[in-house]
Amino acid sequence: MSQYPLQDTTFLRGLADEIGTPFLFYDAEVLRARIEAVKELTSAPGLASRYAMKASSAHLVLKQMRDSGIWIDAVSGNEILRAKRAGFPMGAEPPVVLLTADVFRDNAIDVIRDEKVLPNLGSIGQLGILAQAGYRGPVGLRVNPGFGHGHVQACDTGGPSSKHGIWIDDLPDAIAKAGSLGLPIQLLHAHVGSGPQQDEFNANVVRLAHLFGKLLPTLPDCNAVSFGGGLPHSYQDPELAADLGPLGRTLRDAQKSFSESAGREMRVEIEPGRFFVAPSATLVARVTDRKSTQPNEKGAGHDFLMVDAGFVDLVRPAMYGSFHRMTVVSEAPGPVRPWAVAGPLCESGDVFTRDDNELIQPRALPTPEPGDFLLVHDAGAYGAAMSSNYNSLGRAPQVWWNDGRAVLMSRRETLDDILASECEESLATTA
Ligand SMILES: *Cc1c(COP(=O)(O)O)cnc(C)c1O
Repeated sequence: MSQYPLQDTTFLRGLADEIGTPFLFYDAEVLRARIEAVKELTSAPGLASRYAMKASSAHLVLKQMRDSGIWIDAVSGNEILRAKRAGFPMGAEPPVVLLTADVFRDNAIDVIRDEKVLPNLGSIGQLGILAQAGYRGPVGLRVNPGFGHGHVQACDTGGPSSKHGIWIDDLPDAIAKAGSLGLPIQLLHAHVGSGPQQDEFNANVVRLAHLFGKLLPTLPDCNAVSFGGGLPHSYQDPELAADLGPLGRTLRDAQKSFSESAGREMRVEIEPGRFFVAPSATLVARVTDRKSTQPNEKGAGHDFLMVDAGFVDLVRPAMYGSFHRMTVVSEAPGPVRPWAVAGPLCESGDVFTRDDNELIQPRALPTPEPGDFLLVHDAGAYGAAMSSNYNSLGRAPQVWWNDGRAVLMSRRETLDDILASECEESLATTA
């Protein structure tokens, strides 16, 4: 079997016949390589790495993280419970699982209290809410330092337009409030990048280190600083391996200077999501048809390649205009032409080939026949995790490829799955 089995049409047809299309295909080897890269980056004493599990919370991905000694950043009560089921220890000593949230929803507070997981708070009000609910443990404070980056503005993680964290000028109030409620501050946290360039990410970390270094002497219980996630993955060119050397040096320097200014041994953390998982999965779709529109006074015409995967399977292009590499797998591909690749949803925005302005941006691809395959690469982060069953389409199955063996890690969602929460129950409340 080839190193990358999805280029093998016999293998692909076999899988497609067995489980149908579309599906997500995870390569465990690729995931392990990224895990090793992050472990190497944080191998010095006093450094730690978490996986921001919202990027992909599939149990086999989580188990791979657990087996590799990676910790978890969760964002909801249910994410904590998924981590628990995958075998991660609960409790805050050490805080193997961290809950980062600006808003407590559903079971979040109950799970924090019951599992004694360290909560990382994004507003001052949350301190009061937790204390009111009977929580008496340590907390982390997520700070909005006033700067940061997103791969698009909707993803800004720091600065005036970001909803995340406690605005830097309000931090003294937050510290005073935590003190008055008897909630020791164990962690200072900021997540200032989601997909910026590597050097910009490093520069942000240096600025943060300066900011946090000044605060630490005033926080006697604080034993950790987190620089968040946002390690970039190059969606354009996967061969362009990020040079993590400068970031490693920055983290080691920060760990030393934090420990000096605090007068105790500090832990320095990062919590990448996409960098861990983005390249590990490929969305496999079947080409269903080709069709064209002609130019008129409203605009240019396009050649559409219709496929059976859509933004219910991978929303990044439709939501952010994100670029994903694509490959046609065909026994007899026709000439390369510009194709607009579009999916099955009753929604004109269901197009995978988009540009930054979210306009249709045709892609040069070999011409496939209906029945051939289209691979959408780097779908491991925010693919299945952001999938939906819009149009009552069942969520696509996920396949785990490990040591030359394919394992079904989640089956296709059925109508019964989709309807499982529907009911018609009288409520007690009256007007
Ligand atoms: C989303 C998120 C991450 C991961 O971001 P990536 O860009 O996937 O690395 C890390 N930390 C927090 C708090 C987040 O919200």
